[in-house]
Amino acid sequence: MLHRSAMDSSSGRGIGAAVCATVLALGGCTGSATAGGAAGHAGVGNGGASAGTTATAGGGSGGSDASGGTPSSTSGGSGGGSSGAAGGDFAGNTGTSSGAGGVAGSGGVAGSGGFSGMLGGTGGGAGAGSDTTKIVLFDGQDLSLWKSRNGGGDAPWTVMDGAFIVVPNSGDIATREAFGDIQLHVEFWIPKTPTTNDEQDRGNSGVYLQGRYEVQVLDSYMHPLDGANDCGAIYELKNADVNASLPPENWQTYEITFRAPRWSGPTKTENAKISVIWNGQQAQKDVEVPAPTKLGDAEAPGDAPLRLQDHGHTVRYRNVWLQKL
Ligand code: MG
Repeated sequence: MLHRSAMDSSSGRGIGAAVCATVLALGGCTGSATAGGAAGHAGVGNGGASAGTTATAGGGSGGSDASGGTPSSTSGGSGGGSSGAAGGDFAGNTGTSSGAGGVAGSGGVAGSGGFSGMLGGTGGGAGAGSDTTKIVLFDGQDLSLWKSRNGGGDAPWTVMDGAFIVVPNSGDIATREAFGDIQLHVEFWIPKTPTTNDEQDRGNSGVYLQGRYEVQVLDSYMHPLDGANDCGAIYELKNADVNASLPPENWQTYEITFRAPRWSGPTKTENAKISVIWNGQQAQKDVEVPAPTKLGDAEAPGDAPLRLQDHGHTVRYRNVWLQKL
């Protein structure tokens, strides 16, 4: 099931202040709409407490900070956007905001931290500038937006209890859609493994941006970070700046900001850059990644799918969404 916030309204009026809140969280909203508008939600995992508050006209006053990025949030957001008043617009949007009044956020997705309000944001402002569209890649129901990396058929992993689980040795899965610059929220759960296992044989998986650059998923709880291969590492490039690991069998979060390489024709002019907030702690900040990490796809101009790694362990994921930047 594809969820795009900008499609919440069949009228095409879209996201209005809900997006405004997000953009504000990212530092760019200059809302100026005149009517309508859903209450704001609280951004993509990096706060957003100021949602709507600087919109010059209208702007949902809701969008309470849904604690995006809060470690192990299990209660969902706080129902962001509970009081969206007049409309809202967002950065650079010259739309006319004709919404007839927004619907305040209807509450969070359990455990999603930072997502609340989005589902309810049906009213309001003009929906131009859809680069800020939030795409829910897994809503707890199915893996229809994912495919098998091997062959492109349906994703071979299992959905259970609002999460999905690696089916060992079934292969990686990748999004059907390709992406460039993104802000990604993903939650992962690492199973317990014998402490006597090899370091890399403990709940190993990984998040490959554009299928190319891996942010490692591993049980590194109480484990010294070295070798750039522990949890939070950009694989074989750089350790996390902090070991924010929770014990296995806890939900952990990554908020990843990915800037894709830049190209001039076939020539790469700028390397990819990755930032990671891990359970609320800055683990990587604007780290330049000069080449694909191990097992990463070759670099090439253009967007590419997000990929999750099957490394033979029953790692689980849930609440996977992104926003194009
Ligand atoms: Mg891995």
